[in-house]
Amino acid sequence: MKNYYILTLFPDMIMNGLNTSITGRAKANGLINFDAVNIRDFTKEKHGHVDDYPYGGGAGMVMQPQPIYDAYRYVEEKSGKPDRVVYVTPQGKVFNQEMAKEFAADDNIVFLCGHYEGVDERILDMIVTDYVSIGDYVLTGGELPAMVMIDSISRMIPGVLNNDVSAQDESFSDGLLEYPQYTRPVEFMGMKVPDVLMSGHHKNIDAWRKEQSLKRTMERRPELLDNKTYSDRAEMIAKLMNMMTEYFNGDPKRIQHFTKVYAYAKNIGVLENIDSDTAFILETAAIVHDIGIKKGEEKYGRCDGKIQEELGPHEAEKILKKCGYSKEVIRRVKYLVGHHHTYSGIDGIDYQILVEADFIVNMYEDNAGIESVKSVLGKIFKTKAGTDMYRQIFGI
Ligand code: SAM
Repeated sequence: MKNYYILTLFPDMIMNGLNTSITGRAKANGLINFDAVNIRDFTKEKHGHVDDYPYGGGAGMVMQPQPIYDAYRYVEEKSGKPDRVVYVTPQGKVFNQEMAKEFAADDNIVFLCGHYEGVDERILDMIVTDYVSIGDYVLTGGELPAMVMIDSISRMIPGVLNNDVSAQDESFSDGLLEYPQYTRPVEFMGMKVPDVLMSGHHKNIDAWRKEQSLKRTMERRPELLDNKTYSDRAEMIAKLMNMMTEYFNGDPKRIQHFTKVYAYAKNIGVLENIDSDTAFILETAAIVHDIGIKKGEEKYGRCDGKIQEELGPHEAEKILKKCGYSKEVIRRVKYLVGHHHTYSGIDGIDYQILVEADFIVNMYEDNAGIESVKSVLGKIFKTKAGTDMYRQIFGI
């Protein structure tokens, strides 16, 4: 059983709200329990005040620490130390579906609702574990935010929704908005339900829903797609780094080499403001650029630049396919791997930066003398960020 205690000045508002509908039913079924604790009941002030003027002046009143502390202690004595004490505040991290899922794993959560201008900082320092907001706007009190959070957390608890699948499928569960829904009648004021939904063909229905979901997200919340792409890509890069480490197992020099080239390439890319698609190609290419070395040593007993360019692209393709890379990205990365020792005909910023990052690392690893370090500067380095980095690293 999950227990939610809400420290508030308006317990009726909380109890009337949460006792209604699905959260009320979940409580009646013993899946969750919620209890609003009236902070005012714990004041020692004879007129029942719980707030006072702010030190230092300014508008409004501030909730005092003593009644909140005593209300909190009451909950602690009743039900033990909570897993979290959430202060709902516009100054917190903005609540989202991920947080709802995370909080649903806890058994005991205390929510503290502020009012007036807020709460004396000392009590917050003392008891609060999480500062959480429901959005970048200011409400008069914390009751609605606490109810919003408890509602959304409760839906994640098995058995609370009639059909648990509905919580898995809906908006934000996979970083996208949900597809459009239809019910009877088939035709309403001349508008028909899409044929595919009545076809009974589940594969086609799934494909249609996925497409609609993407289209809708693109139209209404494009930033969600950017975030999703960003986190998917970060995951692929991490996976690729792991696979390449495994590939060069027992060869720390090669592993250190590609890790450094990756880091420099990424950094130069950011400083040069390259777009995110190009950055993804560049970072990927930096990780696999020397993949031909191992095959070269096996096949020819050596691994110079030309051999790497000959054998690398095919090896890169194999590993990138395993990581789930798209054909388009693989095509460009193969080209870069196959040309990273060719310094003429550089045809893109990804190519240019890869060469620069590789030079930064190679000149150091090869213990190049200062004259050769200087000699490549004008020939190889074209980006400002790469040039500055190279100059600073070698002090030239
Ligand atoms: N003076 C405070 C500030 O500027 O951060 C705002 C106080 S607000 C008027 C009163 C209370 O409402 C807060 O203490 C908080 O508990 C709650 N509150 C207001 N907006 C909120 C939001 N967006 N998310 C969560 N809680 C909020």
